Amino acid sequence: MPSLYIDGTWTGGSAGTAPVINPYDASTVAEVDQAGPDDVDRAVAAARRAFDTGPWRATSTAERGEILSTIADLLVRDREEIARTETLDTGKTIAEGRQDVDDVTAVFRYYAGLADKDAGRIVDTGSSTVVSRIVHEPIGVCALITPWNYPLLQLSWKVAPAIAAGNTMVIKPSEVTPLTSVKLVELCAEAGIPPGVVNIVLGDGPSVGAPLTEHDDVDMVSFTGGLNTGRAIIRASAETVKRTAVELGGKNPNIVFADTDFELAVDYAMLAVFLHSGQVCSAGARLIIEDSIADAVVDEIVRRAQLIRLGNGLADGVEVGPLVSAAHLAKIEDFVAAARSEGATIRCGGARPDDPELKDGYFYLPTVITDLAPGSRLIGEETFGPLLTVERFSTEAEAIRLGNDTEYGLAGAVFTQDMGRANRVANALRHGTVWINDFHPYFPGAEWGGMGRSGNGRELGPTGLAEYQEIKHIWHNT
Ligand code: NAD
Repeated sequence: MPSLYIDGTWTGGSAGTAPVINPYDASTVAEVDQAGPDDVDRAVAAARRAFDTGPWRATSTAERGEILSTIADLLVRDREEIARTETLDTGKTIAEGRQDVDDVTAVFRYYAGLADKDAGRIVDTGSSTVVSRIVHEPIGVCALITPWNYPLLQLSWKVAPAIAAGNTMVIKPSEVTPLTSVKLVELCAEAGIPPGVVNIVLGDGPSVGAPLTEHDDVDMVSFTGGLNTGRAIIRASAETVKRTAVELGGKNPNIVFADTDFELAVDYAMLAVFLHSGQVCSAGARLIIEDSIADAVVDEIVRRAQLIRLGNGLADGVEVGPLVSAAHLAKIEDFVAAARSEGATIRCGGARPDDPELKDGYFYLPTVITDLAPGSRLIGEETFGPLLTVERFSTEAEAIRLGNDTEYGLAGAVFTQDMGRANRVANALRHGTVWINDFHPYFPGAEWGGMGRSGNGRELGPTGLAEYQEIKHIWHNT
């Protein structure tokens, strides 16, 4: 089947095809069509037409909620197939793949429920002859550009509210992991979304993403990905004064006080950084730990990190899969070489595994790095890999200072049994999400997004819907 979907039709692309690689063994999972500039133009034109003149604008919020609910049902029906595809495409374990589908289903159900609850408001002008109404309208044509680490999940955070608000859209998934995004578009079509409302074009950033962000007929770009790409997108959008919502990287502190239960501290520090081989925007890659327990906790993390079972995400008992691509593996190797040259101590990992079963894949051992100097590249930059750095503190003020010592501000955690301290630290951290005695959870009804250079938007929750709405004031002098 062709892999681009434009104006209600599956079609090939004018830029040939590209392989989709399984990071477990570098085999080819599929060949997908690649969009050329003409395909991008056709997709935007279809979305424009569907927004300006199609039946979509006449759908009620309740009807759109019904469509989202149907998509959720279809996700449940195809859960296993989608989870498997996500594993083949990203390398994550099948358990994580299934969890992703369940989370995505919950996001569609959340916005299905919210769609018709968002009614604008009446403003009290104090006049008996004036009716002042605030109405929420769709923005128009949205370009939705997503990364490779949680392809389906990140896309659902955009597609579901964009549909709920009544927009039309052109989706551009990561060229590294396009398969489940194509599948989601299939489900949107099956759920009865009219032609032109949801379109998908495949290809890389420069040839497909950039033309979308520069396009005159695109009204909004919602982007999740790296900081530098986010900067380029904001710059490219400036000319046409598009709305931009960018969700970018993170360098997330995991602050652990000495009164934390030992097992809890170790379990969560490992989950924080090694989940999906560290390829998580909220990865707790900086362990910031109180001096008095640091040695014992780090020793135990090092011991357990060496026991993590790497392998094929589809196999039973595998805990962590490979990195997503050869290019990303090279980047991680580069970070560790930099740490070595700075004189840091590599407590474990720091290499590719020597297991012959893993030799063709993009595997990297879970790695713990200590003795980094303040200002080290490893502490400041997002590595997006299984690399844990360790910093120590002895006072609460120092812990807060270290936790905020980053250009990013996506997420962070504080572990302590002292609830007063937990709340003081949580209030003081400049991060979009702060977990107390937990790591990584999110919820469809709670906003997600970053402060600082982690982004300028919010996804999920009511604000995640508002991102896709224009606010209009209608002043009616009766
Ligand atoms: P990336 O920035 O390289 O690519 C993301 C997307 O942008 C891809 O679809 C890519 O093709 C496209 N793109 C690249 N150049 C472009 C351009 N000039 N114009 C338009 N589009 C362009 O990011 P990645 O490597 O795919 O993903 C990893 C990054 O995503 C990490 O930094 C991670 O922290 C971030 N991320 C953030 C969140 C969040 O919620 N804040 C969630 C997941 C991932």
